[in-house]
Amino acid sequence: MEIKINKSTNLKQKPEDSTLGFGKIFTDHMFIMDYSTEEGWHDARIEPFGNMSLHPAATVFHYGAEVFEGLKAYRKADGSIQLFRPDENAKRINSSAERICLPEIPEEMFLEGLKTFISLEKDWVPHSEGTSLYIRPFLFGNDETLGVHGVHHARFMIIASPVGSYYKEGINPVKIMIEDEDVRAVRGGTGYTKCGGNYAASTRAGEKAEKMGYSQVLWLDGVERKYIEEVGAMNVMFKIGDEIVTPKLTGSILPGITRKSCIEVLKDKGYKVSERLLSVDELGKALESGELKEAWGCGTAAVVSPIGELCYKGKKFIINNGEIGAVTQKLYDTLTGIQWGKIDDKYGWTVPIK
Ligand SMILES: *Cc1c(COP(=O)(O)O)cnc(C)c1O
Repeated sequence: MEIKINKSTNLKQKPEDSTLGFGKIFTDHMFIMDYSTEEGWHDARIEPFGNMSLHPAATVFHYGAEVFEGLKAYRKADGSIQLFRPDENAKRINSSAERICLPEIPEEMFLEGLKTFISLEKDWVPHSEGTSLYIRPFLFGNDETLGVHGVHHARFMIIASPVGSYYKEGINPVKIMIEDEDVRAVRGGTGYTKCGGNYAASTRAGEKAEKMGYSQVLWLDGVERKYIEEVGAMNVMFKIGDEIVTPKLTGSILPGITRKSCIEVLKDKGYKVSERLLSVDELGKALESGELKEAWGCGTAAVVSPIGELCYKGKKFIINNGEIGAVTQKLYDTLTGIQWGKIDDKYGWTVPIK
């Protein structure tokens, strides 16, 4: 694949690591590739980061034809840079694209575009403990018509943003509210895809929870509102007795790469892991009996995020005294150890950037 590189002549000043937040500062360049039914994917290029011009009727503005990915580039102690399981993002963006009739991107193209772009932006990967370069690949429809059908023109882009440590003040367990009004997704819908529309549907409950002092919501299934699905933009796991339980992928849950990695690490360490249906009743009973030992969310941004309090229908439950549990801590140490290159990657998950 030929990638034309038009380097910025006006490089930005890089921010101090200590001032980094999430997704506010962007690197000097962006990757762009266009698609049309006639030409397929073409014109792969890297350009200076900046605004772009789109037709006001472009599909993405009207019918939500957009899917995205999220992953990070990590700097190791020796200064080199690596990605974590980017092949999984390449696969997932295509499963998302297929569901909402956007063109799929050959995995090699996705990976080559990604590696070339990150290699060019290498200096933007911050150095301090816990910091990283967050990478956002996204794909949207841009047919210049209001007609409703599968798109014939699309654009794939990658942008990147240096981000601070998620746990600047140490790993503090979060408070989560179980949402029993809004639903995020239903089986047969788009729950398993990383599409912008899912976020549009879930924002209201998130805002409501925040006003009540909770950091995210725990979603129940959209039909019976009975089974636990996931937490905000993270998958969720519980330690009930000696069993680690995580909701099985029924189609309405996002198949997280962190979730998958947690399951593999836990099984490897000898834990019993069950991917199964978990009802809110069963969870409530485990909370009341004290069988619920630990709960945590997992996703690229936080890696793992311990849950210290759950609120359901106005009733509050404290988990593990509101402290991080031993399994959560072990998972955090293992995954971040591999990601930042502090421990041996025996699973072969990391991909170096030259
Ligand atoms: C991205 C995302 C996750 C976590 O996926 P990772 O691949 O682990 O980052 C979980 N739930 C939702 C809704 C998401 O969008």
